[in-house]
Amino acid sequence: MVLSTRNIELAIKDDTPHRWFRNVLHIWPKYTSMAPSIAILGAGPSGLLLGRMLELANIAYVIFERDISGNESSSRAGTLDIHADSGQLALQNAGLLDQFKKLARHDAHTILADEKGKVYIRTSESDEANEDRPEIDRKDLRALLLNSVPANRVRWGLKVQHVQRDSDGLISVHFADGNIESGFRLVVGADGAWSKARNLVTSAKPQYSGLHYLTTTIDPQNPFHSIAVSLVGKGNYIAFGGGKQIVSLKLGDGSYYVGVGLRLPENWSSEYAAVLEDPKAIRRLLLNDHFNDWPKLHTDLIEHSDGTFYAWPLYAMPTESLSWRTVPGVTLIGDAAHVSTPFVGEGVNCAMTDSLQLAQQIVKHGVDDLDRAVSGYEKLMFPRAIDLISRSAKSGELFFAPDAPRGWLKTFAGIDCD
Ligand SMILES: Cc1cc2nc3c(=O)[nH]c(=O)nc-3n(C[C@H](O)[C@H](O)[C@H](O)COP(=O)(O)OP(=O)(O)OC[C@H]3O[C@@H](n4cnc5c(N)ncnc54)[C@H](O)[C@@H]3O)c2cc1C
Repeated sequence: MVLSTRNIELAIKDDTPHRWFRNVLHIWPKYTSMAPSIAILGAGPSGLLLGRMLELANIAYVIFERDISGNESSSRAGTLDIHADSGQLALQNAGLLDQFKKLARHDAHTILADEKGKVYIRTSESDEANEDRPEIDRKDLRALLLNSVPANRVRWGLKVQHVQRDSDGLISVHFADGNIESGFRLVVGADGAWSKARNLVTSAKPQYSGLHYLTTTIDPQNPFHSIAVSLVGKGNYIAFGGGKQIVSLKLGDGSYYVGVGLRLPENWSSEYAAVLEDPKAIRRLLLNDHFNDWPKLHTDLIEHSDGTFYAWPLYAMPTESLSWRTVPGVTLIGDAAHVSTPFVGEGVNCAMTDSLQLAQQIVKHGVDDLDRAVSGYEKLMFPRAIDLISRSAKSGELFFAPDAPRGWLKTFAGIDCD
């Protein structure tokens, strides 16, 4: 019998009481075993990968996502390098590594220069390191993960407002549209930096790093595109100096992603919201007020960009907060647990490792002992997360130091410029 509320209604309407009772008894065990006891907030990389792992283990779950479809977030285009010993390992456990390898780019070199254009590091397109850290477009990774779970597991257009423990000890999820879903034995916050589940495990909040990334794109049809090809090629180009940074990366569709890193006040993006919405005005502001002493070689990437701009104020969780005592029924994965600045390129790798380890603990302890599973997972996650946040903070400090890239090259690449 197919389980549906319609079947339950039909059973109730049946005019023979004992048949009604028999039908309900027939349906009920299926109903209870199929009702998801695990809710995942957010269909980003960590939430979707956890869903995939639970799917493989035949454990019921539901994912609530604020986007109205899987095609959103295009303004946050960009690429992610997926590391062999973390992100790729998680994808392998999820049975998705072969598909990932077809989508990933293994020829994405890295060029690292100073603000004047002097190149210090240039890896080749056939470098072995590319195999360990191939690049994938953010949107392609989401599509890969999304296609790996049944469509009805993700409930779109549901923005979580808060999560609470009810008098029955179970957890309910409250949405901005007034809807409530209750009765969960575990709610996993995978809803990024501003997680709505976090306050149930810690009072700590992400702290502003002092830095913003402003990102845009250069389309293949853009007349400047061929110049970007000769500067950036198939991989990543990073120029930094004087406390600023210009980055460009090739995307899977041939366009280029351009990122500008700057020290800006925390509320800059809200104060400059109108400027941000006007690409000409934001380009003018960046070129005149921030990069007027940088060579054309680099500022052309800003001047000739054609996409709209998106602002990423960069935050990180305070490392001392990563030690909470396991709270029954709630945990966090990915950026919700340990948002970090992106200066070691490991955020998504750490996030997917969280999903793998939490799923493994749930399978190990079973759905009847979710608290032990969460406790086991959090013990593994805390030191990894602290290490990620600390290394990224150190890297960011050197990336944006007045004498950059000297200190960064010495510390992270062993290159002495003195
Ligand atoms: C500029 C920049 C560059 C980066 N570059 C790299 C890199 O090169 N390599 C790398 O490893 N990492 C990088 N990162 C970090 C990486 O993007 C994150 O670590 C990763 O996306 C975390 O995945 P997540 O699933 O935990 O969270 P997210 O990717 O933030 O996904 C959270 C999901 O939850 C949804 N959501 C949010 N709030 C709600 C709500 N209230 N209700 C319902 N749904 C909600 C969101 O719509 C989203 O789908 C970068 C980050 C930034 C800012």
